[in-house]
Amino acid sequence: MPKASNEHFPTREALQQQTMETLLSHLVEITGHRDHTLLDVSVLSALHQLVGANEVRTYEIFRFRDELFLRQRAAVRNGKVTPVEDPSDAELIGEPISNFPQLIWCMQNRATSKEEVTGDGQHVLWFPIWLSDKVGTCLMISQPQAFTEESLKLIEGVLSVYRNYQSLLDYSERDSLTGLLNRKTFDENFSRMVSGAHGHESVPHDPPDRRLLQPTKEQWLAVVDIDHFKRVNDQFGHLYGDEVLILVANILRASFRAQDRVFRFGGEEFVILLRSVTLEDARKIFERFRATVEQHVFPQVGQVTVSVGFSSISSETPVVILGHADQALYYAKANGRNQVCYYDELVQNGLLSSEISNDSAEFFFDDIATGSQAD
Ligand code: GH3
Ligand code: MG
Ligand code: MG
Repeated sequence: MPKASNEHFPTREALQQQTMETLLSHLVEITGHRDHTLLDVSVLSALHQLVGANEVRTYEIFRFRDELFLRQRAAVRNGKVTPVEDPSDAELIGEPISNFPQLIWCMQNRATSKEEVTGDGQHVLWFPIWLSDKVGTCLMISQPQAFTEESLKLIEGVLSVYRNYQSLLDYSERDSLTGLLNRKTFDENFSRMVSGAHGHESVPHDPPDRRLLQPTKEQWLAVVDIDHFKRVNDQFGHLYGDEVLILVANILRASFRAQDRVFRFGGEEFVILLRSVTLEDARKIFERFRATVEQHVFPQVGQVTVSVGFSSISSETPVVILGHADQALYYAKANGRNQVCYYDELVQNGLLSSEISNDSAEFFFDDIATGSQAD
């Protein structure tokens, strides 16, 4: 607590001491997270308290069909910090960057900030967060009075910590060869998605035959495995093998929407979490990806194909859901490869037994708790 020079007014030193203590406790909070949204929430709380701005937001910037979009990740509203935890479809799709001219200006001029005064007299500052030459996040801070030099320094200091910490988080979440999200991130995201799906009554837990008849929107999990990849390595060498992995990762990135998630699960295996589509659409989307890989001409190597097994993210545990997609993938492998197989359909047609072997689940998912870990 600050010392007071008399009963009513704290000294300048006492105020500085208090700011320093507040800043330090925010720094501890900011650097204690392993998740982008929680990191954002702590940065926004710090800025809200230290600068006294009445509105602060973070946005994720992503590319979709050659256009940039913004999606809000966390915000301070009415003095309360709220993460956007369960966004609607519209929020997931986001807003085109053309709605944010200040941000476009920053990106075109490689600037670190831009101030504007809006029609209703609000002073608004935009900060794209540059990580080397790319911007994946931006921050907006708004207040009725002009920003003082002191508050600008404070904001820039907090944003430098934010930038450095984001780059550390990115590094720990991604696979270094392909840049896709890694297995550890999958474990965390999938647990959270499954526990979220269980909380929604709209996600049916119907027997497979009924689900095939009902065009409900659901979440889906697919496991992708490159066919005869060992041959690529054996015939052309590991460097060409690596190149194929990078190119398949690029096709994956281009084939799925920003609200879906693509992970490199291990060696030549990938996992896709597909959000909010009907079974028929899920089948079409996975089939289109399979066909794109088949038609791609890989330098030197020529044709490469993939097999895909997918399953609904029903109210089962993560181990069981992944086990189902895995069983469908192995069916695809055993029956000609270069195809997409759906678990429930295989079971319904008597081609797979719905019993899951413990071996298979352990092999794929040995170190994840069952959905209760989500934070
Ligand atoms: P299948 O169609 O049954 O999937 O056959 P496959 O040859 O793809 O399957 P297998 O699991 O036998 O081989 C996978 C190979 O992937 C073996 C391993 O050397 C290779 N691999 C795993 N990770 C990497 C990597 O990072 N780079 C390269 N170049 N190869 C990798
Ligand atoms: Mg494999
Ligand atoms: Mg393989």
